[in-house]
Amino acid sequence: MLDLLSSERKDFKIQNNITKGFPNDRGTNRKDLLESISELISDGIFIQGIEIRCNYCGSRFFYSLDEIKQKVVCKGCQTINSVGAESNWSYKLNDFLRNAFAFHGVFPLAWVLGELLNKSEDSFIFMPCITLHKDYKTRKAYAELDLTCIFDGQFLIGEIQSQSNKFSEKEINKLADLSFPISPHKVLVSAFWDNDYQLNSWKMKLEAKLKNLNIEAIKPDKQIFKPEYYI
Ligand SMILES: [Zn+2]
Repeated sequence: MLDLLSSERKDFKIQNNITKGFPNDRGTNRKDLLESISELISDGIFIQGIEIRCNYCGSRFFYSLDEIKQKVVCKGCQTINSVGAESNWSYKLNDFLRNAFAFHGVFPLAWVLGELLNKSEDSFIFMPCITLHKDYKTRKAYAELDLTCIFDGQFLIGEIQSQSNKFSEKEINKLADLSFPISPHKVLVSAFWDNDYQLNSWKMKLEAKLKNLNIEAIKPDKQIFKPEYYI
């Protein structure tokens, strides 16, 4: 991980033509890396533990700090193993976060929320994804909204995809239809990866449909697609 960070920092310095004031020696990188990992553990994003290879079945399993004892039971074959001396630490991503990012599209949403938060000058309040029902007694959902927020006093709703080619005419029409009863100030379309450069045209299609309702169609600024060197 230290080599990866050093290599990323080296590329970052070359790409941004940085010649001084950005140390990239092993000692600094190790210190920064350990600080970042400690913060991630403290925030519950990483779980600290060790990996143990079962002496009987050969499987490797992760045991968190809470699970480590002198003797641990193999999570596969149930054989009892001893923890080896001087075991190396391993770090595992919190399963809840992993599932949210991998299966529930949270990453593109978090990125858009971050961008809106940074741009807001007066206020920013958001709600998690919500399901809409035409009647509160009906169990069947009428629609889902990925993004609902109040941004500098303006009510904003939005549809967020991981890739821009996942938008369709049907989806844009549905978003426009939904905007009529909800009457937000702005409707946002966003894709984490504008892989077919179509996000702007989806925004323009939505704009045409919302024109008579006096609702503005928007999309996030381009910079959200750039990675951040946060360590
Ligand atoms: Zn085993």
